[in-house]
Amino acid sequence: MTGRQGLDTPVQFLKGVGPKRSKLLAKLGITTIRELLFHVPRRYVDRSRTLAVRDLKPGEDVTVFARVVTGTTRRTRNFRKMFSCIVRDETGMTEVVWFNRPDLEKRLKPGQELMLSGKVTSYRGRAGFTNPGFELVKPGSEASGHNAVIPVYPMTEGLSAWSLRRIIRAALDTHGELVEESLPPEVLDQYRLPPVRRALEDVHFPREYDAALRARARFVYEELFFLELVLALRHRRNSVLEKGERHRGTGQLTGPFRQGLGFKYTGAQARVIAEMRGDMAGPGCMSRLLQGDVGSGKTVVAVEAMLVACESGAQAVMMAPTEILAVQHYRGWSGALAGLEVEARLLTGSTRKPERREILAGLESGDVKMVFGTHALIESDVRFERLGLVVVDEQHRFGVMQRAALMNKGWYPDVLVMTATPIPRTLAMTVYGDLDVSVLDEKPPGRKDVVTRLVPEAKRPKVYGYVEERVSAGEQVFVVCPVIEESEKLELKSATATFDRIRAAFPGRNVGLVHGRMKGDEREEAMSRFRARDLDILVSTTVIEVGVDIPNASVMVIEHPERFGLAQLHQLRGRIGRGGQRAVCVLMVPRDPVGETGERLRFFASTTDGFRLAEKDIELRGPGEILGTRQHGLPDLRIADVIRDSDDLRRARRDAFRLVELDPGLERPENEAVRKTLTERYRGRAELFDVG
Ligand code: ADP
Ligand code: MG
Repeated sequence: MTGRQGLDTPVQFLKGVGPKRSKLLAKLGITTIRELLFHVPRRYVDRSRTLAVRDLKPGEDVTVFARVVTGTTRRTRNFRKMFSCIVRDETGMTEVVWFNRPDLEKRLKPGQELMLSGKVTSYRGRAGFTNPGFELVKPGSEASGHNAVIPVYPMTEGLSAWSLRRIIRAALDTHGELVEESLPPEVLDQYRLPPVRRALEDVHFPREYDAALRARARFVYEELFFLELVLALRHRRNSVLEKGERHRGTGQLTGPFRQGLGFKYTGAQARVIAEMRGDMAGPGCMSRLLQGDVGSGKTVVAVEAMLVACESGAQAVMMAPTEILAVQHYRGWSGALAGLEVEARLLTGSTRKPERREILAGLESGDVKMVFGTHALIESDVRFERLGLVVVDEQHRFGVMQRAALMNKGWYPDVLVMTATPIPRTLAMTVYGDLDVSVLDEKPPGRKDVVTRLVPEAKRPKVYGYVEERVSAGEQVFVVCPVIEESEKLELKSATATFDRIRAAFPGRNVGLVHGRMKGDEREEAMSRFRARDLDILVSTTVIEVGVDIPNASVMVIEHPERFGLAQLHQLRGRIGRGGQRAVCVLMVPRDPVGETGERLRFFASTTDGFRLAEKDIELRGPGEILGTRQHGLPDLRIADVIRDSDDLRRARRDAFRLVELDPGLERPENEAVRKTLTERYRGRAELFDVG
């Protein structure tokens, strides 16, 4: 069906949903009837198993049902408004207080029944609640029965739980019949999942707790299954279709290149190179993720792959997220490449017009074989004669569309993406789930772990003393700060203020400054002076976060480390200790930090294992922000949680990959439902896979 009768009808056409409610629903990500029906509860409260007021114990997280006896608004000593409410059930009474909720006096009248959820607090020796979550229970509604199972939805302010339930009821009654099964029958059988219409009824209006959980499990699985299906299709398109060019490699370029390197590959580098060569020589396209902690030596591996592509006459490109990094790649390797018969160039936003014209002409004619650069490479007038390999460094800084834009400049080129943010298993199965993975799990010899210390502001003079000592010994120091301009309100030191301060503290030393607002060549000048040891101390913002490689830098002082995420701190710290000296990272903190910040920073100081840090980051910040499935062009996860539901994720992945292996075009009758759902739900992203 189409138009206003279909599931894609805007919710405001439902009875009981006006413009105001549809705005509120939009805040929950619900704009169509389909989205409304699939707005699945987060959890359920089984009323027959809730606690009695008599049994409340401080510290426990509970749900109770009670009735309001009285309620009054008072002012506390520090002039906050407090609404205090006595509630009771058959077993006893307790006090519940809310702060700054002027609306409650009207809503919680004596006799009103409500469901309270939250941590039990203790006040003057009595158990009670402070600012609990609550829901009004309407007399005569489903929730008022003693055996009721009450769904708890993700909510937004202004929309009550029971009006949401009423709207969903209306939608199910008018449109429920239109929902078609999306999972193959054997999957439903195998996991004993209810069919979709039954599941919709049970997930929103359960009669039994177990039925609710089974229905919910179905939607969790379904969401993960379609995510993995998209990945499986992408993976197949890349690796199996015989569209790629074979790059067998002659050794003509890589041989002399290796000889010119001042070092031998680590075992891990040699293994990864072999993996890449295998892909590149094959009939499909390489799509490989190269994962390796900071300093593990990814770049040289990528340069080797670029040379392999050039050996068969194709061109290779490496894109980096910042200009500093692109310049470093180019400068760092142009020496080693100079003796080879291959022309390499650098293209960034700062490349001057005449030079740019020349490079573009060279790329189009095929005279320029290798090009390093930034986003400037994506621009539409950059054309290649025969692009064979795309390398994307620090991949997590780019969106899927940017990666795709570069790939589209060639005819199914091989693709290598690199990241220093180690990827926990869950992530590897989701956003990077269509790529083959190589890991550099060994650092070049002579690297020492960076020692990290939290130092309170009061000891700043000591830190400066230490910096002076290391500088006198001929080493170099980074001072990193989070913002560029002074913000009085946050009292953050800007890069320029820090710069002035450091200059004043080290009058005999050469101090430089780089930040994001500088012009490219100014910034590059400061960087090359630092690289040439012309500067002793470099004050910078996070523009140096990724990739910068200055082997003589051994100390890093980070101002306001609490403003950075764990992954970012780890990247920053990875800038030092690259030359084998004792490396020290100092986190300047106001006092001894407490709470979540303290936990985070102390954990950071306790380990240099990027993998553990990444997992902690996910644990602390939640997977959503880090996963960002949408920016990878993947279906959003609204119901499933990749950490909590990781078993389902694994199953869904196995099932989806098997299905694609057996029926790559989704043409078999039993996969009809899957195919239809895929094209219907993920239509907008169809360019990312070849079905439909
Ligand atoms: P990352 O993996 O963080 O991108 P880089 O590619 O920047 O690391 O490498 C860090 C440094 O290690 C560079 O100076 C590089 O030349 C050097 N390097 C890479 N491989 C080796 C090796 N096998 N032995 C010694 N030094 C190496
Ligand atoms: Mg790097």
